[in-house]
Amino acid sequence: MRGPGLADSGHDDVLLAQIEAFKRRAPLLYFILIVNTVAVAVTHFSAAPRALTVYVPAAVIALIVVRMVRWQLRRHVQFSIEEARRNVRLTIVLGSLIGVALLVWALALYPYDLDTAKGFLTGHGHVVLFVGITVVSCVFLLMHVRAAALAIILIVVPPFCGYLFATARLVEIAIAINLLLVSGGMFYVVVTFCRDFEQMVRAKGELARLSQQNAELANIDAVTGLPNRRRFFAELYGVVTDSTGFAVVIGDLDGFKQVNDLYGHVTGDGVLKEIAGRLALVAPAGSCVARLGGDEFAILLRGAGLQDTAPQLCQRFIAACAVPVAVDHLTVHVGLSVGLSIAARDGNKPHDHYERADYALFRAKQNGRGRVELFSPAHEQAVRQTSRIEQTLKRADLDREIVMLYQPMIDACNGAVISFEALARWHSAELGEISPNVFIPIAERSELINALTRTVLRKALHDAAQWPAGVGLKVNLSVRDLTSSEQILSLMNIVRGSGVPAALVTFEITESIFADNLNLVQSSIAALKALGCSIAIDDFGVGYSSLSYIHHLAPDIIKIDRCFIADLCTDPVKAGIVKTVIELCQNVGARSVAEGVETLEQAEALRALGCSEFQGYFFSRPLAKESVTSFAVPAQACAV
Ligand code: C2E
Ligand code: CA
Ligand code: CA
Repeated sequence: MRGPGLADSGHDDVLLAQIEAFKRRAPLLYFILIVNTVAVAVTHFSAAPRALTVYVPAAVIALIVVRMVRWQLRRHVQFSIEEARRNVRLTIVLGSLIGVALLVWALALYPYDLDTAKGFLTGHGHVVLFVGITVVSCVFLLMHVRAAALAIILIVVPPFCGYLFATARLVEIAIAINLLLVSGGMFYVVVTFCRDFEQMVRAKGELARLSQQNAELANIDAVTGLPNRRRFFAELYGVVTDSTGFAVVIGDLDGFKQVNDLYGHVTGDGVLKEIAGRLALVAPAGSCVARLGGDEFAILLRGAGLQDTAPQLCQRFIAACAVPVAVDHLTVHVGLSVGLSIAARDGNKPHDHYERADYALFRAKQNGRGRVELFSPAHEQAVRQTSRIEQTLKRADLDREIVMLYQPMIDACNGAVISFEALARWHSAELGEISPNVFIPIAERSELINALTRTVLRKALHDAAQWPAGVGLKVNLSVRDLTSSEQILSLMNIVRGSGVPAALVTFEITESIFADNLNLVQSSIAALKALGCSIAIDDFGVGYSSLSYIHHLAPDIIKIDRCFIADLCTDPVKAGIVKTVIELCQNVGARSVAEGVETLEQAEALRALGCSEFQGYFFSRPLAKESVTSFAVPAQACAV
């Protein structure tokens, strides 16, 4: 910041604020000048020559009126910075000229004294008063334009006071001293006022800039520079449903997590930036391309004819993302799955379309990734059905309606029953029999799954307490069970209070739980292990198989997904995978369980590969609790 001085600050905000302040005061300033001038001209009319009392004042007043009208007309005009600079300069020049004119005119009139009998004040007195009040008013009204205000003081006061001193009359000398003191005071006030004014304007500007920056940060995604989730929803809620039309596209990257895990977050961020750029490039003008979070993007398309164009556009988004991304000297491959909802005049709110697109995305992911799914009436039906099941499940008496079945795991060496997996069945009083493949994923969407898992564990342990000694129990856990420490504590308490040794209890978890919250999941698993329970990785091979997870979790058991077992005897690739997984289990000290063993041939092939245990229809379908004890017969001889 510059120190106080004659020159005005060149700061843009200050210039604009100065001209704004002056704009409002200019008409009043000119009005006061006119009144003061007319008053002196009238009182000196008879004593001084016409040139001084009529022509000069008339010319000055004409000039002032022109300026006054000009400012009056422009009082609502917003000046550009260039105009503001020009006008501030002009104000300084005109202010100085007015000062000179005032001084010269006052000095020219001073010798023409009036007949004191006509009033109590002499002509000299009126001129002094005129100079005094005019200078004070000018300085007061020009206060914001420091240079102009100070110029008037400096141009008028010292010469005028010099003139008064020169008269050598006591009254004039006293007035001159008075005037000098007052002017000195005004000089100081102007300088400090302007400094404070500048500071205030700059602070205001800084504040405006900060709040602008803040607003941007709150609406922009820091990684990609795209609008963020908040901004996307603001745009979405802003669309007028019945105007030109709109569509919501939600895209989720396929394989991004692996890139992040393998190469780290810096590379991951580079990929997100590149993908963001590609999506923005493909999106037509007027669309809003946003990053919702993680590897999820949303695009709000606007315009007519989207029924035809939006699906093609989605294909172009997918194609753009399928091109390998070069980042940090690496080339990485990701894909894009897309859910699309096109607004029709169906009375659905913008947010409904977001949810529909999100549902369609879920289906796109389920049906094989790298594709677009358009939200359809069939989806609408499925959503309704899901919500009906969810509502019914919420109200259900789980203790009564959930029934447990148990499927054995057979030792590959001797055919003995090692344990049973607890599989839930829901006999809904309202909806009838619902498959676990339907109600488990629905329960997993909310905390409903936690209550369900507790019920399952309680029931299964209650049944297992009756089984022959040494027969184990396997219970499935969901992500939400492992990401809630409260739930883990409840589960541990249920195990402790069951009378079944914790060493006989195994919790099955799928690889998908490693998608988020690895630390939380790890500490839950550590707590269960500390209690004495075992951990099995379920459906191995279909999720995010990562050797680092296996290393971190040190599972006791790995269950090879049944999709590898089905074609084991006909597909050498699948057989190779199974062989590798069994070897992996041997290397990390885990038992291998083959799921979905349906034929003797499969069992024999698996045994030859060194698989530890079998589970599947060939040995037994899931059994009712009454049949378990009779099934868990003593070990048969190893058939190999
Ligand atoms: P899962 O954990 O992979 O359970 C094995 C599923 O495979 C069971 O289906 C079982 O009946 C089926 N299965 C067993 N052997 C064979 C076979 O030889 N061939 C074929 N094709 N299928 C076989 P289910 O009981 O319908 O359960 C389906 C899924 O539901 C389970 O898959 C599990 O993910 C989930 N689930 C079941 N009960 C529970 C539970 O209590 N809690 C949780 N979180 N999930 C459960
Ligand atoms: Ca399981
Ligand atoms: Ca399984």
